[in-house]
Amino acid sequence: MLRQSLVEYAKPLKSTEAPTPAVSGSEVLLRVSHCGVCHSDLHLQDGYFDLGGGQKLDVSANRPMPFTLGHEIAGVVEAAGADAAAVKQGQRYAAYPWIGCGKCALCARGDEHLCNAPRVLGVTVDGGYATHVVVPDPRYLLDVTGIAPEIAGALMCSGLTGYSAIKKASAYLRAGPLLIVGLGGVGMMGLQFARAITDAPILVADIDPQKRAAALRLGASEVFDPADAGARRAIIKASGGGAGAAVDFAGSDKSLNFAQGAVAKGGAVVIVGLIGGSFSLPVPMFPLRALTIMGSYVGSLAEARDMLALVQAGKVAPIPVELRPLAATNAALDDLRAGRVVGRVVITP
Ligand SMILES: [Zn+2]
Ligand SMILES: [Zn+2]
Repeated sequence: MLRQSLVEYAKPLKSTEAPTPAVSGSEVLLRVSHCGVCHSDLHLQDGYFDLGGGQKLDVSANRPMPFTLGHEIAGVVEAAGADAAAVKQGQRYAAYPWIGCGKCALCARGDEHLCNAPRVLGVTVDGGYATHVVVPDPRYLLDVTGIAPEIAGALMCSGLTGYSAIKKASAYLRAGPLLIVGLGGVGMMGLQFARAITDAPILVADIDPQKRAAALRLGASEVFDPADAGARRAIIKASGGGAGAAVDFAGSDKSLNFAQGAVAKGGAVVIVGLIGGSFSLPVPMFPLRALTIMGSYVGSLAEARDMLALVQAGKVAPIPVELRPLAATNAALDDLRAGRVVGRVVITP
């Protein structure tokens, strides 16, 4: 099989060739049809996440080189082990990439995406910037009938992340409307899922006027510029006391401060973004405001199924996609790094 592999951190990907894996047991071999290029691939290529304020999170351990990135995978079944015989050859699927060890308590309760011994496709085991990928069990193959194959993989990352965060926030909307902070790709998906799962009004805050205009087109009831000194007050006024829940899709000290300042008593902030920075709040404010602050990381396998059902029901507009061949994977990463990408680049091995 052909791959575009990481051979050294902070260096370009290289073409590598390896024997196409023979599958056994419950394993399934997918012929990759599409693999989305994601911002987190840039951090994996670097070997660290920038946490802001000069702090770095090293993510370079336990990744044997050459390593194949790519976690937004859709493909067609080419072979299956004896215990996966029910999977039909030629069937098209998206691969749920956030796979855990399958043995720990987190995995047992269905939170494989939080497992501490993960087998995440394209992050801790070889992924989809290749002609083939091994999926350890058919349970991670999700039916994407009716969904364009070029977006099916990306739904497993930005779609699932947006859906899971909105789902968490939706439990707090008794206290007021929903506020979305940051309308990048994930925030945009989140807004659409919010429209699909709640009747609550949706407020959107973003510093970019084009994104605010896009939010109104996608059904936001009101938009705000967080750089405007009066924005927080305007949100409190528009929501009659504050948002019930705010989802921070940016994840910086600024965005979190803004988000928490705009939620009502009894409300919650769900942090999704990973821009970085530090946050402090006087401890008594948590009980006095009955405030909840929580994080959300991708989403569970069950949530992935629920999210795909909403997409299949036509509740989510397709994201703009640009297709590129496998050999152009490194150029796609460079373009993403340089901010030259509009929508999503998807590799077609
Ligand atoms: Zn991703
Ligand atoms: Zn586990």
